[in-house]
Amino acid sequence: MKKIHLFISACLLVTSFFTATAQQKEVIGKLESQSEKYGKIAHQIWEYAEMGYLEEKSTALLQATLSEAGFIIEKGVAGIPTAFIAEYGSGSPVIAVLGEYDALPGLSQEAVPEKSPAGGQAGHACGHHLFGTASAAAAISAKEWLEKTGKQGTIRFYGCPAEEGGSGKVYMVREGLFNDVDVALHWHPGAANSASASAALANKSAKFRFYGVSAHAAGAPHMGRSALDGVEAMNAMVNMMREHIPQTARIHYVITDGGKAPNVVPDFAEVYYYSRHGSREVVIDIFDRIVKAAEGAALGTGTRMEYEMIGGTHELLPNLTLQRIMHANLSTVGGVTYSAEEKEFADKIAMSLGHEKADLKIAAGVEPFREVGVAYGSTDVGDVSFTVPTAGLRIATWVPGTPAHSWQAVAAGGTSIGEKGMMVAAKTLALTAIELFNQPKILEKAKVEFEEKRGTNFVYQPLLGDRKPALDYRK
Ligand SMILES: [Zn+2]
Repeated sequence: MKKIHLFISACLLVTSFFTATAQQKEVIGKLESQSEKYGKIAHQIWEYAEMGYLEEKSTALLQATLSEAGFIIEKGVAGIPTAFIAEYGSGSPVIAVLGEYDALPGLSQEAVPEKSPAGGQAGHACGHHLFGTASAAAAISAKEWLEKTGKQGTIRFYGCPAEEGGSGKVYMVREGLFNDVDVALHWHPGAANSASASAALANKSAKFRFYGVSAHAAGAPHMGRSALDGVEAMNAMVNMMREHIPQTARIHYVITDGGKAPNVVPDFAEVYYYSRHGSREVVIDIFDRIVKAAEGAALGTGTRMEYEMIGGTHELLPNLTLQRIMHANLSTVGGVTYSAEEKEFADKIAMSLGHEKADLKIAAGVEPFREVGVAYGSTDVGDVSFTVPTAGLRIATWVPGTPAHSWQAVAAGGTSIGEKGMMVAAKTLALTAIELFNQPKILEKAKVEFEEKRGTNFVYQPLLGDRKPALDYRK
């Protein structure tokens, strides 16, 4: 009796394995056949190259794509005109796929392998045009699967604006838009393929504004109080502070307004600061000390200082249960293979970065799974990851060796190289979402891991406080 039972279980296992594989093949095949359609959408967003909170055309295109596919759209969520949620299905589980679509200022570039600004104000140097499009494609694919199988569940696409410094997702989290979500999936363009656990630095940013008194800089300097002196005194103090903060912390600033003419004592000056670390407690402490430096600078220079919080994001809370599923699916999908024409383009990009030629093995393969990620940047996905179990991956949409936020990233993202990588992401996300709908046990396991890592006493406190979305931070 026991033997028969075992035999039946084994048969069931084998059958489910084969169905799963056929299913995976079908999902991958369908997405592959839509590469051209999604390539065009991504390229259109690449051409729009709209900056944070100004992504009107990009958000409209993604909304239209999802609405045509049968999703219900709720736009302007969390008080952000370019944020939206597209939903299909009903009841639990609720699987969210995150999508971004903002571009970076000053990085306009044509889709050519040499530096050649396209004449615009911004460029997709972080590949968010691919990010938004692939995530939408994955959500649509999961929707089609739900429809076909009649399974219960909700698939949601979160249209998340202003990732670059605008902390768009933080407002969406603060608004409670993720409260009924079981799992959030995301990805990011990159120069290699990996679904290992990743990490991100918590970040607090603000614009410090100094107000002085203008006067003729030669004729009556004693009558003036320089706002730029306030900025410079603040920077001097913060630069000394660097020696007395944890080595792994990062502080950067740009002077966004330093006055208009040397012969006028500036009555206004502004400096824009970021402070980052792998732990948000450290970031909060450093930020408070930066504010003290600003106050001291104002006092010493006879100016007045006000600051405006701009962004604030949590570090990333990885979920290994989900990452392992994502890694297995990425391994099934595989990396990116270049055509002869793409190889030629890639070699030129590699040479511009000081390499002899592009190492295309990196784009074709999948990195081995790692349980611990290294953090170099920040992302507002961090706040999502402290709200619901979250998993992501990185895909080679750029020529291997390319740093993010470079003209080389914009260039490759505007070609079929970026679009091929984007489809790898779409397929992997779709397979993962479907697997999660199919196997509620994984969701339970992911939730247990999430609760353990986050801690039972956790209370979500946005690092940017209660400020309204900084809708004009790029204006
Ligand atoms: Zn990015």
